[in-house]
Amino acid sequence: MANLENLYREVIMEHFKNPRNKGLVLNDNNYHITHIKNPSCGDDITIGTKVENGVVIDCRHEGSGCSICCASASVLTETMIGKSVDLAEKIANNYLNMVSNQEVDDSIDIEEAEVFVGVRLFPARIKCASISWKAFLETIEK
Ligand code: ZN
Repeated sequence: MANLENLYREVIMEHFKNPRNKGLVLNDNNYHITHIKNPSCGDDITIGTKVENGVVIDCRHEGSGCSICCASASVLTETMIGKSVDLAEKIANNYLNMVSNQEVDDSIDIEEAEVFVGVRLFPARIKCASISWKAFLETIEK
């Protein structure tokens, strides 16, 4: 188990250092944008999502924050691009349940976002791991 924890930590730090899909697309108003702040640790994240024919065709993030917050935004975008809106919503809800230590539906694969499973042991970090995923849910509801 200790090795798995180290692997998860490495994946999180790798996403923090080399964030995927960072930077909003500003010249395309088909992106739905949501901005969320977490005053308790300075996390400030904006998510932009573009949906076409019921599929997330692009998902971008911008902002700053702690390693958990920035890495979870990066993993979010990689997880969601290419998913149907329906599946994306299920994955996001399952992830949010996992990090807040609530019941998880094992039939919904959250893929690489599994690396944030340890967050549930640190209540102060749940918000850090959640805000980009909550912002994403708002962007697909718009
Ligand atoms: Zn944070």
